Amino acid sequence: MSFNSPKILWQILRQELIGLADLCFPPICPLCRQALQASALFCSSCLETITPVVSPRCSRCDLPFAAEDGSDHLCQACLQDPPPFLWAKSVGLYDETLRRAVQKFKYEGDFNLDRPLAALMKEALQGPIDDFSPDLLLPVPLYVTRLRQRSYNQALLLAKSLGRSRQVPVAAQLLLRIRPTPPQIGLKAVQRRRNLRGAFALSRPLQGERVLLVDDVMTTGATARECSRTLLDGGAGEVAVAVLARARLHG
Ligand SMILES: [Zn+2]
Ligand SMILES: [Zn+2]
Repeated sequence: MSFNSPKILWQILRQELIGLADLCFPPICPLCRQALQASALFCSSCLETITPVVSPRCSRCDLPFAAEDGSDHLCQACLQDPPPFLWAKSVGLYDETLRRAVQKFKYEGDFNLDRPLAALMKEALQGPIDDFSPDLLLPVPLYVTRLRQRSYNQALLLAKSLGRSRQVPVAAQLLLRIRPTPPQIGLKAVQRRRNLRGAFALSRPLQGERVLLVDDVMTTGATARECSRTLLDGGAGEVAVAVLARARLHG
């Protein structure tokens, strides 16, 4: 190996610096502060308490069914009113670890969770995202006043990190939330959808792009539906949805 290249020298130096930093500041699990194995993103006890959504699940919106056997099929909501998106995929259920992760990431200002959480999403999405091959990643936007309160959009951070690792561009200012919407917690699916009607708009038309919409949690799917509808009306070719966590109930 020749050390003449500044790039190789820098790579060696970088590895040394990482090793030194790990020695002085041993890596810890960002969720529970336990010591981490080198290069692990979370500790094994946190990873073990993530519950992946397994079959039988809704093939459209990723909702898990109560029955333990059987094949994937459409849930009642998707049968009665098919969503405008092709499919949705999550890392796992919105309980235990993922609930704690979202709490820290979204409400407690722990924005450094973006990279490890996006890495989990990348792994969970591997098959579907390869088949879908998106042209663009779009985060579900926050209304401007909410963004000021929180100072960052957690969906944008996830999309950026996912986009970097998949080498897909992220369009941060394309899908906009043009009016504030009351909190959705405690509302049924129909009320949620009514709440969100006309809440989103595009800053420019699309031209048949395949869009992967990114968000942290999907509950009834009302937000994903409304965003997807806005994107398709605005010229998107197809829309699919990637979320960190899937809430068990349809609301
Ligand atoms: Zn942990
Ligand atoms: Zn469904």
